Amino acid sequence: MDRRTLLKTGGTGLMGLLGLGLGACSRTSGLSSLSPRLRLTPVNASWDRVIRTTVGLRPYRASGFVLRAQRLDGKTLIHNYGHGGSGMSLSWGTASMAADIAVQEDERRAAVIGCGVVGLTTARQLQRRGFNVTIYAMSVPPDTTSNMSLAAWTPTSGLVDRSRRTAAWDAQLRQAARIAYRQLQLLIGPEYGVSWIDSYALRETVPSGGGRNAAPDPLLPLELRTGSTLLGPGEHPFPTRYATAGTTLRIEPSIYLDALVRDFLRFEGRIVIRKFDTPRDLAGLDEQTVVNCTGLGSHDLFGDRELTPLKGQLTVLVPQQDVNYATFGGLPGAGGFIHMQPRSDGIALGGTSEEGEWSLDPDEEARRRIVGAHVRIFDAMRGAPFAD
Ligand SMILES: Cc1cc2nc3c(=O)[nH]c(=O)nc-3n(C[C@H](O)[C@H](O)[C@H](O)COP(=O)(O)OP(=O)(O)OC[C@H]3O[C@@H](n4cnc5c(N)ncnc54)[C@H](O)[C@@H]3O)c2cc1C
Repeated sequence: MDRRTLLKTGGTGLMGLLGLGLGACSRTSGLSSLSPRLRLTPVNASWDRVIRTTVGLRPYRASGFVLRAQRLDGKTLIHNYGHGGSGMSLSWGTASMAADIAVQEDERRAAVIGCGVVGLTTARQLQRRGFNVTIYAMSVPPDTTSNMSLAAWTPTSGLVDRSRRTAAWDAQLRQAARIAYRQLQLLIGPEYGVSWIDSYALRETVPSGGGRNAAPDPLLPLELRTGSTLLGPGEHPFPTRYATAGTTLRIEPSIYLDALVRDFLRFEGRIVIRKFDTPRDLAGLDEQTVVNCTGLGSHDLFGDRELTPLKGQLTVLVPQQDVNYATFGGLPGAGGFIHMQPRSDGIALGGTSEEGEWSLDPDEEARRRIVGAHVRIFDAMRGAPFAD
């Protein structure tokens, strides 16, 4: 079989979503020009280069994010929360849709509860529609879940249980993903910390379906699927038999979230540090329109028991300027899924998702598994024929 053939893996696992399984790919993909002599600098992965380990709790709901309005104590309360492992990807989209609900109100003042990526993008979308906005939140960047994100373009990762989806929710997802994908592309550059990056899914076998006519991911519109190319033995520098090459969006959370805060303040936004314990606490706000962007906070604040954490952990290595590609998957025996994404604040290594785990303590066993597997991959890559 021709290895650089059309791939449409389209799964909802992280690897399938990091631009590597999203879509149509072909011999005409830009990356095919890189092979067979693809040269990449290995990551200097070693324990003495570890600079921190961070933990965040993804706000997961089996039936997907909540985007709807209700009346509460004479106010219009618009919910926009529960984005699981896809909040950094989708937030501009659901924010735009939440703001479109708000413009149906007469008042041009709004309160946004929450200052993670969903709250900030919602606040900006409201400002773009002429609203005077105040954000109320108990924590702000760099102390939000959003700051703990890997922040690759993963618009359906850890987002929904496929058996719980409805046609109406799917339509919301597609609209949100379309808006967000376009918006993120307009923010490319150092000011926002958004960029395109080549990604390689490392694998021992050819993806199921053989690639040529595999079913596309039905969750996403076609135009959101970038190409990918299957590289075979001798065509890539990795220690696996195959690597699927693609190009995807990368967001650097600390740069991005600070830039969103700056933009919000530039348009006369106001941030108030405040915790709300019950929905009744919202009654005292001056604003008649309130948008709930509290992420996992909605579990307690609004009693949404469907919300549950997907605990995720990243271990970060000293930044390495000459590494500008991401990897997903790895050697057999890695003990689970792993991924590496470089950014200016370090090389992020991850691969955990623990449902129902509320602890913010790093999991030492997971740290050892993930760092150890990456040390093995990049040590092996150094010995590979095409490694620099
Ligand atoms: C390890 C890891 C990797 C990830 N990788 C990706 C990825 O590659 N791509 C991707 O798209 N997403 C990824 N995510 C998921 C993404 O980070 C989340 O979906 C996103 O951050 C959720 O944003 P949010 O604004 O809803 O929540 P948060 O960032 O948690 O913000 C919630 C805000 O609400 C406030 N709040 C909560 N409760 C209250 C209350 N009672 N009163 C007042 N304020 C309150 C908080 O203080 C905070 O300001 C990852 C997450 C983790 C942990």
